[in-house]
Amino acid sequence: MPVMYNRVALIGLGLIAGSMSLAIRRGKLAGEIVGFAKSAETRAVAQEINLVDRVVASAAEAVQDADLIVLAVPVGAMGSVMAEIAPHLKPGAVVTDVGSVKRSVFDAVIPHIPTGVHFIGTHPMAGTEHSGPRSGFATLFDNRWCLIVPPEGVDQSELDRLCAFWRGIGSNIEIMEPDHHDLVCAVVSHTPHLIAYTMVGVADDLRRVTDQEVIKFSAAGFRDFTRIAASDPTMWRDVFLTNKDATLEILGRFTEELFALQRAIRQGDGQQLFDYFTRTRAIRRGIIEAGQDTSAPDFGRAPTKS
Ligand code: NAP
Repeated sequence: MPVMYNRVALIGLGLIAGSMSLAIRRGKLAGEIVGFAKSAETRAVAQEINLVDRVVASAAEAVQDADLIVLAVPVGAMGSVMAEIAPHLKPGAVVTDVGSVKRSVFDAVIPHIPTGVHFIGTHPMAGTEHSGPRSGFATLFDNRWCLIVPPEGVDQSELDRLCAFWRGIGSNIEIMEPDHHDLVCAVVSHTPHLIAYTMVGVADDLRRVTDQEVIKFSAAGFRDFTRIAASDPTMWRDVFLTNKDATLEILGRFTEELFALQRAIRQGDGQQLFDYFTRTRAIRRGIIEAGQDTSAPDFGRAPTKS
């Protein structure tokens, strides 16, 4: 694959930016990767592990002469970072973000985009519960979806180039409109995270079940909630503050379904429970058939001694 952008600037050096850097290198997609993160500590780690080609001390310096600028900071920080870099962008540069929410990022970022600079939103649908500069890995995006969210009036050739870049990183591409993106993500990502946070919180509050029992028997299902509920608190706080409407809508539907199942349990309506679980099992099968997860028992985890 040929070099697609001469200089790529990564603002933020956490899980997503770090994984992008490693995948960009693997695919030889950029001439140089420059990186900046807020804290001196993160910058020092990035330098130490050679995460990017050059770590710099300010966002302004990072975007100097950059052809592609990737905003890989928490959603709530996108607007201020964009305002800071705007005067330093070269004409013709492309700014993209990888935020988990799109409408609020559009509202915060687009007003600062200078004339002659392009903006296109993206959201790689891949992640782990880890964060920070040491958490990235080159294969994170392989065979995962990256949703590309162009603004109205996007430059078609820049859109095509960014799509090809994400394919080079390993992703499958789908173009989506911002509000629809936020609704889809509320269903497949945001609300499930909130439910996992809640379930782990409930277990923590239940003093009749000891902490040791919760940990010892967690493989019964709880463990997968705890993995999701270990996700970065800053990132997820910002997701819920900025994707409020869609998350509340899905949460409302979730609560109604939960009440219906609660009633079925109370009334001993086994048929309703059976039918419901049969429907949900088919969804799991669809995810496996689409290559988005493994059908191995226990998600392919190696058996542990207990
Ligand atoms: P992360 O590992 O916590 O990294 C965030 C990075 O942003 C850190 O390097 C942090 O620097 C930096 N940062 C924060 N505020 C900044 C500022 N004002 N200026 C410059 N740098 C700043 O987070 P992540 O998981 O990579 O997430 C980054 C973005 O990707 C978020 O918008 C998130 O919604 C999105 N996303 C995440 C996932 C996921 O599963 N994790 C998946 C898809 C998309 P310090 O370390 O110095 O604080």
